[in-house]
Amino acid sequence: MRSEKQKATRKEWQKKNKERLNAIQRERYRSDERIRQRQHEYALKNREKHKEYDAKKYRKFSPEIKQKNRERAKLWYINNPEKVRERLIRTRETTNAQQVARKVKWKAAAFLLLGDKCYKCGYDDARALQVDHVNGDGAKERKEKTRARTSYLFYKDIALGLETMKKYQLLCCNCNWIKRYENNEVNQHHRVYADT
Ligand SMILES: [Zn+2]
Repeated sequence: MRSEKQKATRKEWQKKNKERLNAIQRERYRSDERIRQRQHEYALKNREKHKEYDAKKYRKFSPEIKQKNRERAKLWYINNPEKVRERLIRTRETTNAQQVARKVKWKAAAFLLLGDKCYKCGYDDARALQVDHVNGDGAKERKEKTRARTSYLFYKDIALGLETMKKYQLLCCNCNWIKRYENNEVNQHHRVYADT
């Protein structure tokens, strides 16, 4: 029998060498045909059981259950305004930080894909670059309410190529305003001012 002290030292050692031990174990499992055979047999034998388990586990993702959950969540929101408020205040800071981080990441990725500089004049300071709709249908898109332009999802769609690339281009603020002016997309007030 091992003494308590021996057990403790052993545990300590195992903890320290966790990565190494795991690697050895992984290698053993990968290369030992007998273990794989046993795993295979086990899987075959318990197929029905696992099926049942999976069905139970993934049931919550079925459309009906999802819909039910959504409705329940909505009700909860209506019935617990105080809790909602509390939670909002509590998580506001982290949520905001997460949102900003996401936006920074996806905006950079989208810009990179769009050439990282103004399509017309080549200006490349990202602080003054904007994503422009080539056909000027930004207003229409906003009306159809696909993705909010302020959301990181707007940039994510572009970065992942979910939006067709021909639809967007990068323009610097100057070129963007000039384009708006030429396409009659500026409001009357601005037009009068710019014409005089
Ligand atoms: Zn430009």
